Parts: sequence; structure tokens; C-alpha cells
Amino acid sequence: MNNFEKILNKGLETHILSDEEIICLLAEQDMQKVQKLFDTANLIKLKNIGNKVSLRGLIEIGNVCRKNCYYCGIRRENHKTERFELSQNEILADAELAWKFKYGSIVLQGGEIQTEKHIAFIEDTVKKIKFLSRNELGITLSLGEQSLDTYKRWFAAGAHRYLLRIETSNPEIYSLLHPADHLFSERLQALYDLREAGFQLGSGIMFGFDGQSYSDMARDLLFLKKLDVDMVGMGPYSVHKDTPMGKKHSVQNDSEMLILGCKMIAVLRIIMPDINIASTTVLQALAPDGREKGLLAGANVIMPNVSEVRFRKAYQLYDNKPGTDENAVATRSALEQSLL
Ligand code: SAM
Ligand code: SF4
Repeated sequence: MNNFEKILNKGLETHILSDEEIICLLAEQDMQKVQKLFDTANLIKLKNIGNKVSLRGLIEIGNVCRKNCYYCGIRRENHKTERFELSQNEILADAELAWKFKYGSIVLQGGEIQTEKHIAFIEDTVKKIKFLSRNELGITLSLGEQSLDTYKRWFAAGAHRYLLRIETSNPEIYSLLHPADHLFSERLQALYDLREAGFQLGSGIMFGFDGQSYSDMARDLLFLKKLDVDMVGMGPYSVHKDTPMGKKHSVQNDSEMLILGCKMIAVLRIIMPDINIASTTVLQALAPDGREKGLLAGANVIMPNVSEVRFRKAYQLYDNKPGTDENAVATRSALEQSLL
């Protein structure tokens, strides 16, 4: 048995891997071995969660944001982006559609806004979604960093899960991805606050950008394990040309990025056998069947977009984001076809 297989067997039995062992799995280029990594992760998923794919309807509620993350297409200083905010009725209509589609839960995602008006708006909207779906729809929020008090209000209103990526567990890399006033320590504190407020904690990372090593990625995966998150949404960095990072970044090879994305999912599944791992839209941007490949590498959640089509183009986090021209019904039938 070669070293790669020994590591996979250890992962299968113990779900514990060291930095070095994870680096070895991530750095492997022999596709036969890489396929074994994916198969091992998929086996662990089947044993621990079964074959079911959980669907969470994604509603992009607005692209107004107070932050200026260097990688993101809807950052405050990208003046080429047309800004939108959904009305409450529009959000409720999207939520109702997700409920009718029998998606178990929805994700309300958008820019970071900390005004009292916005906080109260989300609080009220969450309550109304619970009411219209007869308490059946689970609600995940992904609305950036907020105060502990805000998290408590949104939790009390009926949201039960929150997705806030740490983006990178390395404070030095964090400071390269963000302006100086976006503090790593505040990001970390927000994750602790979310748990204190009662939320099931979702987090994640971005990877595959210039200057990051396999060792950094291994530490990020071990960070998520240590944080004991309930859900992970992570994916490769993808260029948006009108951002500071996109202007400097070297050209990406889509198929290499897709394989890296699947390797990251697979290793995470090995070390966190029973959590929810999303196969994110960015994988679909790299290849039409990218999200399905993520599922076969150990992911178990897909977040089909249920946002109204007229706003999808304005929520352009990176260039060539897929699905911006199709409506929710088309998104659902494309998904059904691909999952059959
Ligand atoms: N504003 C909230 C936040 O930052 O948590 C939620 C929305 S934000 C657009 C959701 C995620 O998009 C971020 O956590 C980030 O990892 C990801 N993202 C933004 N720009 C990206 C890019 N160019 N490539 C890949 N992921 C990106
Ligand atoms: Fe705003 Fe989130 Fe984009 Fe950062 S990643 S600019 S917080 S929307």
C-alpha cells in the first residue's frame, strides 16, 4: 500500500489527519489516486448522511454592502455595479416559491448592512417567511458581520442557521484579501457570537488565489474542524475583473480549479464525516457539471437560486457567474435533470 492509500485508510477509520497528510492529499496530481480520494470521501458521506442531497433555495436579497473586500464584485467601491435591494414582498414571493418547490430551507444572502432599519426589516421578513410556510421552511442567513444583539434578534425571529465564511484562517492572508479596517479578529468574534446567539454555525473559506499554499489550505480545513462548524460553504476564488484582486490575479485554469475544489470538499468530508457541505455555484462556473462533481467528492447540499431573474446579473460576485439568465423554474428543472 502506498503512502497516499495509507492516509486514505487512516482517514476512513479515524477521521483524523495531520497537516502533512492533508497536504499530501491536496498536492496529489495522479488522477487515479485523486479519484480514490473522491471515492473515499463519497463513501464516508454515504455511511454518515446517506445519498440524500439537501436543497436550500438561495435568495439574493440585495447587493448593497458597507464592505470593500478586494475579491468581491459587489464591494462598496465597485461603482460599475448597479445596486438593488429586494422589497419584502419580493423576498416573500421567492420564499414561497422555494416552499412550493419543497426545498427544505432557504438562504437569505446579501451585502453587509448594519443599520437599524435593515436589522428590523430582516427580523420582520424572517417572521413572515416562517408564517407563510407554516413554520416548515428552515431559514439560513448570510448577511455578514453583525452585533451579538442583532444575531439574537434574528435568531428569535426564527432563523436557525447562519453562514459566515472566515475566508482564510491565516490573519496575514486575511489582511491581503481585505482593507485594513476589515479585521480578522472581528470576523472570528462574529463566529463566536453567532454560536452564542444560538445559531447552527456555517462557515467556509475561499482558496486557490495567488500566494496561497497547500499548507495554508490544510490549516484552513483543520480550522473548520476545530471550530466544529455544522455547515461549510467553500469554493475556489474566481476573478471579477472590476476588483483590486481581479485586476492583479494570474489567469486561472478552470479544470485545475475544479479538481482543487473537489479535493478540498473530499478532505473536509474525511475529517468532518457528518456535517453539511455545500457544492457551491462557483464549481458550476468552472464546468457545467461542476456542482455534481462536488457531490461525488463528498458534498451533500446544493443551493439552487430562487431569486428573480431581473436581479441576478447585479449579484455578480465574480465574472461568468452561472444561471444569471434563467428563472427559478428553469434552475430547478436543470437541477432535476442533473441529479437524476
Ligand atoms: N456579505 C456576506 C459575507 O460576506 O459573508 C454574504 C455575501 S458574500 C457575497 C458570500 C461569499 O461570496 C463570501 O463569503 C465570499 O467568500 C464569496 N465571494 C465573494 N467574491 C468571490 C469571488 N470573487 N470568488 C469566489 N467567492 C467569492
Ligand atoms: Fe460585501 Fe460580502 Fe462582498 Fe465582502 S464578500 S464585499 S462583505 S458582499
